Amino acid sequence: MTAPVIELDRVTKAYPGGVTALDDVSLRVDYGEFVAIVGPSGSGKSTMLHLIGTLDRPSSGEIRIDGYDVALLSDRQLSALRARRIGFVFQHFHLAAGRDIVTNVGDGLLYAGVPEKERTQLAEAALVRVGLGDRLTHRPHQLSGGERQRVAVARAVVGDPILLLADEPTGNLDTASGAGVIDLLSELHEAGTTILVITHDREIAAGLPRQVPMRDGRVV
Ligand code: ADP
Repeated sequence: MTAPVIELDRVTKAYPGGVTALDDVSLRVDYGEFVAIVGPSGSGKSTMLHLIGTLDRPSSGEIRIDGYDVALLSDRQLSALRARRIGFVFQHFHLAAGRDIVTNVGDGLLYAGVPEKERTQLAEAALVRVGLGDRLTHRPHQLSGGERQRVAVARAVVGDPILLLADEPTGNLDTASGAGVIDLLSELHEAGTTILVITHDREIAAGLPRQVPMRDGRVV
């Protein structure tokens, strides 16, 4: 049996000030899954995604990503794990304004130490993959919201991560563009990428293979 790509074992996260954002959460996600984390605002979804993405450490409990116990890794080793194995997509795209989209996507490989020429080739291939092959010289402000999110998805997958984490990727988009981004994620999933997506859109969540409902810091 292969180890799961994500394993949370009784994870709690308390923030200074006394908010327990995650309360004794256990979760297992296997390779190749496409999971929606659903729940109202404040239920702990983003906190969980940050912990899974190794952007933050838990107050207690164990987290294993791709078999690595993150508590045993130094900050430097965690950065390497993130750079090589995890791709992130956020609600607000986080693209660099004024730089063409090939550069934006290629920057997703900077921390993996890929030389510039290869970065450009891989970025172009990723943009073709998300349907933006005819927009390569465009800058973010020349694209629609849905297209910008496609660029962000291309940047997240350009390094061929084992895990794609998306925090409300459709939250800033109209319904049609949002559906397009979900279709794109479904295509990546069918090609083998493990995907975890946060959404408070019940309709989107209902269309995905697995839902993890959260409330008050717990999986319910
Ligand atoms: P969701 O993503 O479901 O909206 P969050 O994980 O963002 O929920 O937040 C869960 C709870 O933790 C909320 O009560 C929120 O106010 C609190 N919280 C989130 N981030 C911080 C932080 N950095 N410091 C203190 N409290 C936080």
